[in-house]
Amino acid sequence: MSDASGSIAAVTERLRSTLPSDAVITDPTRRAAYDCDGLLHYRVTPAVVVLARDTDQVQAAVQACMTHGLPFVARGSGTGLSGGALPHADGVLIVMSGFREIREVSARDQRAVVDPGVINLQISQRTRPDGYYFAPDPSSQQICTIGGNVAENSGGAHCLKYGFTAAHVLSLDVVTPDGDRFAFGTRAPDAPGYDVLGAFVGSEGTLGIATSATVRLLRTPETVQTFLAGFADTDAAGAAVSAIIGAGIVPAAIEMMDALAIEAAEAAVACNYPAGAGAVLVVELDGPGAEVDSELAAAEQHCREHGAFEIRIAADDQERQAIWRGRKSAFAAVGRISPDYIVQDGVIPRTALPEVLRRMKQLADDGGVRVANVFHAGDGNLHPLVLFDDAVPGQADAAEETSGAIIDLCLEHGGSITGEHGVGSDKAKHMPKMFTEDDLDTMQRIRCAFDPTGISNPGKVFPTPRLCGEVPRRHSASDDSRTPTTTAGVEIF
Ligand SMILES: Cc1cc2nc3c(=O)[nH]c(=O)nc-3n(C[C@H](O)[C@H](O)[C@H](O)COP(=O)(O)OP(=O)(O)OC[C@H]3O[C@@H](n4cnc5c(N)ncnc54)[C@H](O)[C@@H]3O)c2cc1C
Repeated sequence: MSDASGSIAAVTERLRSTLPSDAVITDPTRRAAYDCDGLLHYRVTPAVVVLARDTDQVQAAVQACMTHGLPFVARGSGTGLSGGALPHADGVLIVMSGFREIREVSARDQRAVVDPGVINLQISQRTRPDGYYFAPDPSSQQICTIGGNVAENSGGAHCLKYGFTAAHVLSLDVVTPDGDRFAFGTRAPDAPGYDVLGAFVGSEGTLGIATSATVRLLRTPETVQTFLAGFADTDAAGAAVSAIIGAGIVPAAIEMMDALAIEAAEAAVACNYPAGAGAVLVVELDGPGAEVDSELAAAEQHCREHGAFEIRIAADDQERQAIWRGRKSAFAAVGRISPDYIVQDGVIPRTALPEVLRRMKQLADDGGVRVANVFHAGDGNLHPLVLFDDAVPGQADAAEETSGAIIDLCLEHGGSITGEHGVGSDKAKHMPKMFTEDDLDTMQRIRCAFDPTGISNPGKVFPTPRLCGEVPRRHSASDDSRTPTTTAGVEIF
């Protein structure tokens, strides 16, 4: 028996003796159902699956892994697009989606305490009757979990105005990789000392498992106005976005779709977007009625000045839903126009939109593939969908290459290798393009402080794994005299 199979047998035995019998899955067919997340081209069947329903069960599973040195990976709904919840063949996958009660809603304090497996949208559904909602709204909000949102620091259409998940989490209960329990953050607006909560949010399951989250609730806005604007091309639409934000207006959302994304959405949901549009913007404004009215007039005017040939303002909630339907269905809709596609995720400064979209088209033409764009234009968060047909020899490689070149393009323009989908397994290789060895060492030191033996979601985020025994290179006096430099828009010391 190999070391790993001995440890797997020992962990399985321990889990069976401590957890309910239906919580431990070893049957190969049932385990195979968890072999990937939303990034379908990486697949690994976990050795054991634990369906956790409370903190004690999570802790028992982590302690078993710690004792026997087996890796574990937390999984929410598995909608991640960067392979963050990709299991380990010799490890335990701890599935959190059954751990899903909303424990407490305090409208007066604008707080809710939720289990990690609670579905994002359920918080707003529960709190809306009291006039509150949970602002971060990934397009997957009908299925993704709060634990996954916290781990990925997820965003969404309305994060332009309201900020990503990090801005809406007040405290977390966590089972650390050595099997202890900690609470990070407070229910007060701010806490003294190091921002350990901040380090955990966005750490992609590498610092432990969140078992409870206290999240901030926002008051439902008095008024919401949504309009759709059709443009000849993405240059004009991009210029309108910059003009609106440059004028000091912060819409709740500004989303852009290009011609190919519109074509896909039309094929899937017949959204009836303006005929002949090379790009559309969905612009949403919210707040007090008078403020929204004046911002709506100004935003509409900026769109017209930058070439919008058709503007439709939603008269009621039904029309508003109709405008959003095309945008919200666009990812899945791309399957209507291409058998295969890669969802890329990168960020650029908003003002670089026209130039980057033009160069992206050139990259796609050079690679012989097509790229559809549907994205959060207001914060420069791009989601290019690289379309290809795996049945055509060479196309998958060309798509992969184009997808990588798009990331380089984002970095060249002072952007980032990922906006909201995380680094996961997929983008770990790109981390050195954005960060120096010293940057990565610093991050690894934080990781080691939480997870000295490296068992919590290993192989994700970092290009090369490191255990705490492998002390990162120490700084020498000569290092300190180096002058700061800038690479790809990142300050490096
Ligand atoms: C159609 C579609 C649209 C999407 N749109 C958006 C979007 O607009 N914005 C956006 O940001 N993302 C979007 N995503 C990506 C994805 O939905 C988010 O990253 C989401 O937060 C993942 O949640 P999940 O519950 O599915 O997590 P999983 O995919 O199961 O896991 C994601 C990561 O979180 C870790 N994790 C899960 N639970 C815990 C926990 N309790 N404690 C610690 N770590 C944990 C996992 O180990 C993994 O690293 C989209 C995905 C799809 C398929």
